[in-house]
Amino acid sequence: MAVLIVSSGLNLKVDHTYRRAHTGGTGGVKSCTNYSPVVKSLREAKSAGFSDVLFLDAATGRNIEEVSTCNIFVVKENILSTPPISGTILPGITRKSISELAPDIGYQVQERDVSVDELLEAEEVFCTGTAVVVRAVESVTFYETK
Ligand SMILES: *Cc1c(COP(=O)(O)O)cnc(C)c1O
Repeated sequence: MAVLIVSSGLNLKVDHTYRRAHTGGTGGVKSCTNYSPVVKSLREAKSAGFSDVLFLDAATGRNIEEVSTCNIFVVKENILSTPPISGTILPGITRKSISELAPDIGYQVQERDVSVDELLEAEEVFCTGTAVVVRAVESVTFYETK
């Protein structure tokens, strides 16, 4: 995906205790209510040297959802996988743009549940959003596993 990466990488911490959005809530809309729940987690992660926090799904705690203000893609071979729009992640326009453009340069896009295990085994990971544009993920830390 090197052609799409525009700036230096993010070091993400997976929040394994706190869930940012629940089914039936406002996790799927661009609302200020999505930022206050992540402040504590984000502040702790930043003071520990991380760039941002990746949240897991509230139902199982096993699948990745999104970072505090951006969506996430996992790359393996020529497949880009990203969590589906199910009401708990923001349907970002940057995410949608990548999904539409990627096939033109030979990538297949799958919108499906992506487990943390799969994330940790990915070849590349990147985030999308108006704030970060398209940004490589340099590291992911889950508990002590990097
Ligand atoms: C804004 C935002 C995004 C990215 O959406 P874009 O439309 O691509 O900017 C992803 N997640 C959250 C929580 C956001 O607030």
